Amino acid sequence: MNIFLVYGGKSAEHDVSILSAYSILKEIYYNYYTVTPVYITREGKWLKGNEITDPSQVNSSQELILEDIGEGLHFSDIPKENTIVFPVLHGPNGEDGTVQGLLEMLEIPYVGAGVLASATGMDKIISKILFKEAGLPIVPYFQVKVIDWHVNQEMVISEAESTLSYPMFVKPSNMGSSVGISEAKDRNELVEAIAKAFEYDRRVLIEQGVQAREIEVAVLGNEDINTSVPGELVKKQQFYDYESKYISNEVVPQIPAKLSEEITKTLREYAARAFMAIDGNGLTRVDFFLTADEEIYINEVNTFPGFTNYSMYPRLWEKTGLAYGDLIEEMIQLGLRRFKARQ
Ligand code: ADP
Ligand code: MG
Ligand code: MG
Repeated sequence: MNIFLVYGGKSAEHDVSILSAYSILKEIYYNYYTVTPVYITREGKWLKGNEITDPSQVNSSQELILEDIGEGLHFSDIPKENTIVFPVLHGPNGEDGTVQGLLEMLEIPYVGAGVLASATGMDKIISKILFKEAGLPIVPYFQVKVIDWHVNQEMVISEAESTLSYPMFVKPSNMGSSVGISEAKDRNELVEAIAKAFEYDRRVLIEQGVQAREIEVAVLGNEDINTSVPGELVKKQQFYDYESKYISNEVVPQIPAKLSEEITKTLREYAARAFMAIDGNGLTRVDFFLTADEEIYINEVNTFPGFTNYSMYPRLWEKTGLAYGDLIEEMIQLGLRRFKARQ
């Protein structure tokens, strides 16, 4: 079978995607698969590399940048038989339903969430609406459109101050890896935070900040939903930003998280419910806040979470009893089964 492994992408999470792709390429079961790496440049050009039939052909994540050696990919080059596309893309233009829609049009099976789950999962405003509808607890928030911000900044600020209290968190609706997100502790910071978030999206959320532990649960399946043990990101700082996530490695995962049985059960049940609420397929990581007085809030879902050997999603499965290579194999099988079921 052929795997077309697509990574990179026109997204702020381009580099993380390369690291995820590298780890996956090292662990795919090559006795069943031949892999064609497909690198999407930051400008959005699709480049195809040479076939990989053995993990030793990949020696560093740097080699996955095919800018000088890859050939342009024509979608008609992707064989229709015995092929699955593996989109290892994080963030807008990949994790958000765009690439998934393209693959639906081409009638090629692919790994992971479909168009609807990808699009709703990436959009923090829409996913909050769906979570609320599904009876899942969310933090108070409201949304701001860029036009409202341009027309009447004071009204936006006064709405924030009358419905929420500082600190607040301001986020672009479509983004990941903490890009464009800021914590605002006072009015000046709020104005700055909103302006910054609008650099990334036309729609922004202002959320109530909470002092909480961050707990994550991995979901795997299609109609049959499996959840992992919960894991905790033990933080040295409150705000888990891009720097602490990828550069300074300041976050230590604790798996399983130290939680009562009851909280664990609730989190796993909420994770499955969130997966259903977005019409999930394949995989999703569901992220929660847990306050000191044991209040649970669902924060967000990530339909293609970080996937390096050190990332939370594969580590959660490892500690639940599913090794990295077996996890990748299961994701491929789920993608194939989903494709068959829709025909
Ligand atoms: P992303 O999709 O970029 O990961 P998140 O919504 O998970 O976006 O926000 C990134 C990080 O910001 C979280 O992991 C957490 O550390 C912090 N954060 C986000 N929202 C809140 C909030 N309402 N209260 C406290 N911290 C928050
Ligand atoms: Mg996210
Ligand atoms: Mg997050």
